[in-house]
Amino acid sequence: MRCLICENISFSHICKICQKEYLTPKLYTRKILNNTPVYSFYKYKDIEDLLLTKHTNVGYYIFNILASIAFKKFAKNFYFEERTVSIAIDDNVRYGYSHTAILNKYLTCKSIKPRYNILKAKNCISYSGKSYQYRLDNPRQFTCKDFEEENVILVDDIITTGLTLTQAVNALHVKKKEVLFCLTIADAKD
Ligand SMILES: [Zn+2]
Repeated sequence: MRCLICENISFSHICKICQKEYLTPKLYTRKILNNTPVYSFYKYKDIEDLLLTKHTNVGYYIFNILASIAFKKFAKNFYFEERTVSIAIDDNVRYGYSHTAILNKYLTCKSIKPRYNILKAKNCISYSGKSYQYRLDNPRQFTCKDFEEENVILVDDIITTGLTLTQAVNALHVKKKEVLFCLTIADAKD
């Protein structure tokens, strides 16, 4: 196959050279709800084309690459003394995979246990391209299934206004869970 970025022959959808050149993760931090940190590894505009593959079946491969570079490395360096679960927002399967479940899977390590199909939006409207006011007026209405661990890492693909993550954190607070921080692949803020 050919690398999606440089178009040279490659064993992977993104060749090793491009992975190193364009996808070395950084750590960007934002805060929501005054004090919950949100860590991201890329700026949205830098990898927009790759992120948009989530609307196609190629996204399966791209999200595996992004997660193996950024999330796996993060998990390797993560240590917390109490049992911690990671939960992805809306890990519904489309095009044969769930892009947020792929991200979540790569957090598996000694300190983190991913859980799946826990947090779902009742309101399935898309926020993509919508105004802040529209997002405020149309809450996602998350429902959260029961699980035993108290400490949670929340996972999503992109942070834009932060409203989705804020609503998800609130849904976990209702269940008396502690959200340590949120992790997203990309931050849409400049
Ligand atoms: Zn390449």
